[in-house]
Amino acid sequence: MDLTDVKDDLEAPGWATARTLAEALPFIQEHDRQTVVIKYGGHAMGEEHVARQFAADAVLLKLLGVRPVVVHGGGPQISRMLDRAGVKSTFVDGLRVTDAPTMEVAEMVLSGAINKEIASWITQAGATADVRGVGLSGKDAGLITVEKATRTRIDPDSRIEAVIDLGFVGEPTKVDPKLISSLITSDDDYIPVIAPIGVAEDGQTYNINADTVAGAVAGALKAKRMLLLTDVPGVLDAKGELVRQLSLEQAAAAIREGVVTGGMIPKLETAMAAVKAGVEAVVILDGRRTHAMLVELFTDHGAGTLVCR
Ligand code: ADP
Ligand code: MG
Repeated sequence: MDLTDVKDDLEAPGWATARTLAEALPFIQEHDRQTVVIKYGGHAMGEEHVARQFAADAVLLKLLGVRPVVVHGGGPQISRMLDRAGVKSTFVDGLRVTDAPTMEVAEMVLSGAINKEIASWITQAGATADVRGVGLSGKDAGLITVEKATRTRIDPDSRIEAVIDLGFVGEPTKVDPKLISSLITSDDDYIPVIAPIGVAEDGQTYNINADTVAGAVAGALKAKRMLLLTDVPGVLDAKGELVRQLSLEQAAAAIREGVVTGGMIPKLETAMAAVKAGVEAVVILDGRRTHAMLVELFTDHGAGTLVCR
């Protein structure tokens, strides 16, 4: 047969997939051996099949040469377990106070249930190629040292600033990424999965906002990118529309002007701190959407909100 007669049908099954792969080559080269810290939110985790798809995508990243590090949250899961265990919490300014019984439950849920589940989903998804999830918390190998977080609020009547005590909520003071570095640069394919728990110098266990942990870990690893997966398409403006890109100044303004509230505040603050610490770009995106990370990293169609200089 004369090959000049063969018409390329690029839409035919197989050929279309091959073309998609070939088109990803420049992006695969760009991210080759680069560290990408992924925060997987308590809300984005939702249903099991979505979480398993996330695990499969993390395996794909690893096999494409990326060095993914996963940090997870678990707020909704902790709330459910506290209810089941009948632990009554107090709230200040809408924030749960982490007293000793709450901390005990939080650690069991984060370090025990959720952490091991994600690590094992990754190991199952990567079984054929021997990609393995490794579940750790900030307590392992001296990963995260914290001190008690102090938050303040202004009393609306007197305008006097008061410290609010949220109990065992910590801020990272030191991240020692030695173990994580050896795992991600190993010849074997390990994906570290980190629970947002830290220890103070006195040995006390603290709960940490998972976005904050992701930022601190990304800074310590000099990660190239950080992806914050959540349950909204990204940062929404006052009209509820997706903001595609934010500079550091625009991000600060969004917080100051109250466009951003609640759980989006620590996310944006972390994104800004990480960019200042040298992370090239942080993306806040919808973790409930299948393959959101792949769209972000391997196509020129960004997903979510990009925060950069
Ligand atoms: P996660 O579990 O992913 O950390 P959070 O609930 O802590 O999720 O933070 C994400 C939430 O922030 C969103 O579900 C939304 O309710 C809230 N939020 C507040 N302001 C904004 C905004 N401007 N754009 C998007 N989300 C916002
Ligand atoms: Mg949150």
